[in-house]
Amino acid sequence: MIYGALEAGGTKMVCATGTKDGKILDQITLPTLKPEDTIPGIIDYFKDKNIAALGIASFGPVDLNPDSPTYGHITTTPKPGWADYDIVGAFKKALNIPIGFDTDVNGSLLGEVTFGDSKGLSDVIYITIGTGVGGGIMAGGKLLHGMLHPELGHMLLRSHPSDPYPGRCPFHRNCLEGMAAGPAIEDRWGAKGKDLASNDAVWELEAYYIGQAMVNLILTLSPKRIILGGGVMHEKQLFKLIREETKKQLGGYINTPLLHDMAGYIVPASLNDDQGILGCIKLAADALKE
Ligand code: ZN
Repeated sequence: MIYGALEAGGTKMVCATGTKDGKILDQITLPTLKPEDTIPGIIDYFKDKNIAALGIASFGPVDLNPDSPTYGHITTTPKPGWADYDIVGAFKKALNIPIGFDTDVNGSLLGEVTFGDSKGLSDVIYITIGTGVGGGIMAGGKLLHGMLHPELGHMLLRSHPSDPYPGRCPFHRNCLEGMAAGPAIEDRWGAKGKDLASNDAVWELEAYYIGQAMVNLILTLSPKRIILGGGVMHEKQLFKLIREETKKQLGGYINTPLLHDMAGYIVPASLNDDQGILGCIKLAADALKE
């Protein structure tokens, strides 16, 4: 059985076919233009691949409620042409196969717990820190949706006493994304993160904010592991700093065996940036089962 996978991002669309054991057979990447200039190329790619089902993990916000009349739509995005776009409907109409649908970050999380180092874990959080910040949550073996879906990137953070930077989120200023995403680093320090690799102050401050987010998540959701991916997390020196900062900010309040092994608790993504597309294959396989 061959499954289709679409990782729908704000800048690129990754399309692939694969099998349920996590083998990617074929893959292409297309730029994300307006829907009418993007979706037909993706449909062309899939239409003669004989896929049994399609899994889509999309940028959002998206409507994941199967009882909603706008299920499968991208909702309020500022991205031109994509607001209220029925992405699931477009593929359903063109391909007429079962379609699994979730957020981009829940897709990555699903990839990690199905095929990666976190295989089999039931209570895991995945956060991507790059151009923006997003997070997916699995609790009790189920991806959490709730009212909409979690928007971890916009949790509010308190500023470091020595950091005058106000934050760049247009909605909240000093949320996680506003303080710690790639554009915030560039805005605050006047250079891109990759050109600041040897500037310790940059990464200590970055760890202060990400560590604060870790503490909030540990206290509210009690995950058994937190996976950090995305472009900013390619700065490997960050992991050690984030683990130390998390421990420090927890202040000894929580004392469990899992937290004694911080290196096994806050971990990098393990699938070489294929976690998203592999999660889409799992979404497709699950959609076919249903
Ligand atoms: Zn925000």
